[in-house]
Amino acid sequence: MKVTDHIAQAQGKTLFSFEVIPPQKGKNIQELYDNITPLMEFKPPFIDVTTSREEYVYVNKNGLLDKQITRMRPGTIGICASIMHKYQVDAIPHVICGGFTKEETEYMLVDCHYLGIDNLVALRGDAMKDQKYFEPTKGGHTYAVDLVKQISDLNKGKFLHDIMDNEMHTDFCVGVAGYPEKHMEAPSLEFDLQKLKEKVEAGADYVVTQMFFDNKKYFEFVAKAKAIGINVPIIPGLKPIAVQRHLQILPHVFSLDIPQELVSEVLKCKTNAQVKQVGIEWCIQQSKELIAAGVPFVHFYSMGKSDNIKAVAEAVF
Ligand code: FAD
Repeated sequence: MKVTDHIAQAQGKTLFSFEVIPPQKGKNIQELYDNITPLMEFKPPFIDVTTSREEYVYVNKNGLLDKQITRMRPGTIGICASIMHKYQVDAIPHVICGGFTKEETEYMLVDCHYLGIDNLVALRGDAMKDQKYFEPTKGGHTYAVDLVKQISDLNKGKFLHDIMDNEMHTDFCVGVAGYPEKHMEAPSLEFDLQKLKEKVEAGADYVVTQMFFDNKKYFEFVAKAKAIGINVPIIPGLKPIAVQRHLQILPHVFSLDIPQELVSEVLKCKTNAQVKQVGIEWCIQQSKELIAAGVPFVHFYSMGKSDNIKAVAEAVF
């Protein structure tokens, strides 16, 4: 079922959803299930599955390091299929521009259609680990908006090459990313919001936000988005802080601020168990305020660990 239909069916009730990361190549899928299963009691209508792009690895060949390229977390579509099969829940693959040609994306979209996947999150993806800025893959898309256009075309039955009469068209509901504290490369929040509007005009049905730790930033973002005519649901994304190092890593990787009150509480902690508890309590307060404001979903970034998400969900859902 489409995310927009889940929202309509909920009639104003806030729903719970979360994102998972595919296991590393060579690891068993069981660990992923072990993290999903405890969260199923909160009845998520969907689970997002991220996609990671290729990266360089160094392989020891007779004492010499050989630089090779590989995808360390493959299998997004397969994992979506297994989640749908095992839990009878919608699974949403993240489709990214980086590392894929338009042709490869089309094959993936056709696979998603055959599997009965109703929703996709369309993203540009980040730069490769050894690149400073995102470089489009040869034959691939430069911005997420171009990917949204490709999906919208397929929804109309328009494939990349008109080589035969098409009987098939897809009907994907498309999510895109939004940044309450602006995307790190955008010159201003206003510029970034205009680009978000272009994604919606190209066919995006809903927005999921980057994580934030100050709800005021989300509420202001939603108000500004509405003011420029973005009228699709904007789903807030949250992540509980779990270790002290998150104070440095999260602002660096996601270009966001952590409120001083939360920083002070984390710095008072003597152990990571205490940090985790602080993160859970902060996230509970954020979730309660967002639910009171009537958000359609609270979406959680599990990053492969579910115990703190479960603690938050137990308190608020
Ligand atoms: P875009 O919307 O293309 O925007 C990228 C930048 O370009 C922005 O600064 C924007 O303002 C600017 N821009 C857009 N259009 C134009 C234009 N026409 N001209 C000039 N500038 C423009 N990454 C992954 O690799 N895998 C994932 O699974 C994944 N999941 C995510 C899920 C969510 C909910 C979020 C918020 C992010 C996720 N990311 C993921 C990270 C995301 O790929 C990065 O943040 C990426 O740098 C930007 O992606 P985007 O889709 O927002 O890009």
